[in-house]
Amino acid sequence: MSGAFGGAAGSAGGTGGSCPCGSGGMYAACCGPFLDGTPAPTAEALMRSRYTAFARNDIGYLVRTWHPRTRPEGLCADTGTRWVALAVIDTVDGGPDDESGEVEFEAEWLEGGAAGAGRRQRMHERSRFVRRGGRWVYLDGDQLD
Ligand SMILES: [Zn+2]
Repeated sequence: MSGAFGGAAGSAGGTGGSCPCGSGGMYAACCGPFLDGTPAPTAEALMRSRYTAFARNDIGYLVRTWHPRTRPEGLCADTGTRWVALAVIDTVDGGPDDESGEVEFEAEWLEGGAAGAGRRQRMHERSRFVRRGGRWVYLDGDQLD
């Protein structure tokens, strides 16, 4: 269920069961359990599950997995954005025995919802994660490009 670097298996749209994070796995066997409360074992797993939470507009999960020190106030749903692709480029530490880790990724989305032209946008970030109370949380990140 892991190691799908560069896997382009994420089929756009639909709720047919494949995970939005593009791992190629089924949602119920990939990010689903994390969004339901199971601790993500690695920083990469947490990062993927947060992407999936963005894609599903699961704001509660984004808040729970964001370090309280850096979490923005009043995170709210953004229903106009459609997340379409995730590629994990690099990881440093962040394993089951680590206390911190970094994940570099590129994510793409379509802007605009009903009114917009569906312009494709891309973000490239190197995110930092730390373990807090036994669970991985997102700390902050550097925008690249
Ligand atoms: Zn997933």
